[in-house]
Amino acid sequence: MSAGRENGGAPASSVVYALDFDGVLCDSVDELIESVIRAARRVFAAHSTETWYAQLGSDPVRRQLTHLRPLIKTGYELVLLCRALAEGQYMDSDGPEQLRKAWPEPLKEQLLEEYNSDFGALNGAFSAERDDWIENDLDSWLAANKMFPGVVDALNQSEALARYIITTKDKRYALRLLRAAGVTESAMPDDRVYGLGMGSKIEVLKIVLKNHPGAQVHFVEDYVPALESASISLLGANVQYFMASWGYNTLDDVKRAERNPFITVLDLDTFTSRMQ
Ligand SMILES: [Mg+2]
Repeated sequence: MSAGRENGGAPASSVVYALDFDGVLCDSVDELIESVIRAARRVFAAHSTETWYAQLGSDPVRRQLTHLRPLIKTGYELVLLCRALAEGQYMDSDGPEQLRKAWPEPLKEQLLEEYNSDFGALNGAFSAERDDWIENDLDSWLAANKMFPGVVDALNQSEALARYIITTKDKRYALRLLRAAGVTESAMPDDRVYGLGMGSKIEVLKIVLKNHPGAQVHFVEDYVPALESASISLLGANVQYFMASWGYNTLDDVKRAERNPFITVLDLDTFTSRMQ
């Protein structure tokens, strides 16, 4: 795309992209579920029975976890749900709908209490399993994460003023996947990737706005609640909100985004062509 071409109402050269990672740039659900199952085996080992342990990695549990992916914000939450599924809860066809009503509140806190667990233990096990996988079989770990078609070229060829990633994944994993996929450092410098523990998405969007006064920030995200809360918190800021319909969301999520006057629903082709 030539410099100065219109880009969502602003010239490309004055747009800054703030991009979520999983479900916007990377299709990582297969890797996520494998890491979640390994983490659940590790963190709940003391509580497991033989049947439970076998259920954990079963196809029905994997399928249900895939259905539940749009519900969660951070990987450790699925480790928690994984145990409930392996114990037979929410496994029938109504399961995802029941969980949609109860998740995250009040169920997340209830399960944390019931399983005597916390974020540190769950996320620690999740990261440890991922690190083991990377160390022992990097090729299969990379292969389980697939960048969506066209996004690598779109990032590398983007003429936007700047690009950032705001993700709830640990930064080191996102960087490893970006570099393995061929995203260059000039297209996405290390210090423009904000991962888990580096501030909420809203806090990072404020940093981006501060770094680029006068620019229009395009926040692209597949998790509708994140778009909704940012659009309310940053009311009046020069931010446009885009829902990545190719990511981890349901038809209901798309309808909810379409009804929101602050959110524009994007498809993958439109996103990659606008980015370049
Ligand atoms: Mg996402």
